[in-house]
Amino acid sequence: RTYPALTPLTATVRRKPSTTDGAPFAALSGISLPVTLTARAGTLESTSTGGFLFTHHGYSGPAVLDVSHVAVRSCAEMGAPARLVVSWTSLNDKDWESALGPRGSRTVLTAVAAQLPHRLAEALIEFAGIDLRRTLSQLTRDERLRLIDILVRCELPWSGDEGYGKAEVTGGGVRLSEIDPKTMESKIHKGLFLCGEMLDAFGPIGGYNFLWAWATGRAAGLGASHTQ
Ligand SMILES: Cc1cc2nc3c(=O)[nH]c(=O)nc-3n(C[C@H](O)[C@H](O)[C@H](O)COP(=O)(O)OP(=O)(O)OC[C@H]3O[C@@H](n4cnc5c(N)ncnc54)[C@H](O)[C@@H]3O)c2cc1C
Repeated sequence: RTYPALTPLTATVRRKPSTTDGAPFAALSGISLPVTLTARAGTLESTSTGGFLFTHHGYSGPAVLDVSHVAVRSCAEMGAPARLVVSWTSLNDKDWESALGPRGSRTVLTAVAAQLPHRLAEALIEFAGIDLRRTLSQLTRDERLRLIDILVRCELPWSGDEGYGKAEVTGGGVRLSEIDPKTMESKIHKGLFLCGEMLDAFGPIGGYNFLWAWATGRAAGLGASHTQ
């Protein structure tokens, strides 16, 4: 079984049958920032800290690509979509409690935008159902907790993935247990040497897949030449 990995995710919401209303955060397209993103589906889980990019269709960037295989497999193999949870900054609940504490006439927007791109700060405050003109001292405890939840553990809506067309690597493939790791020879078909992406292994963004292809290619080449 194979599947696209390191692929962007889509977030297209259909509100009425036969109409496509676009991604819920489509207005943020082009904004990028470092985040920590976790994808969970059953026993599958992947977390990545790195760049996140809002696109016209959904989300991309290294953090999204790195966890995308969990999202892809959740739909293909489990029939239930993975949960994507994003922490928009490195601040935790306590840090945000202090950043959002009452402070004169400072607004919620000013406090959140001090840590995030302005348009994203606006979108997240609205997502929390809070008026953008609110000052920190007007914020109720419930509103503060709701906003902190969105800033630290935002459940990201998503609808699918961009598949092999945009994938940087193929997941799945020939089981590593079927290969002799010294020579890369198949244990099932003697005389057949395998390497690279066709094997059931891939790494995150950062050159690991080139490294895997080159290292296993070299090992397979040496293995094949030594057996002849
Ligand atoms: C857009 C994109 C960006 C990427 N960026 C990175 C990156 O920055 N860093 C990184 O580490 N990895 C990156 N990758 C992943 C990396 O390119 C692959 O993991 C790696 O090239 C896999 O090497 P491979 O030799 O196993 O397969 P491939 O490079 O796919 O080579 C397979 C070759 O076999 C040929 N072939 C197929 N069928 C046949 C046939 N029947 N007969 C003869 N020849 C055949 C194909 O034409 C191809 O040349 C990227 C991939 C993509 C698509």
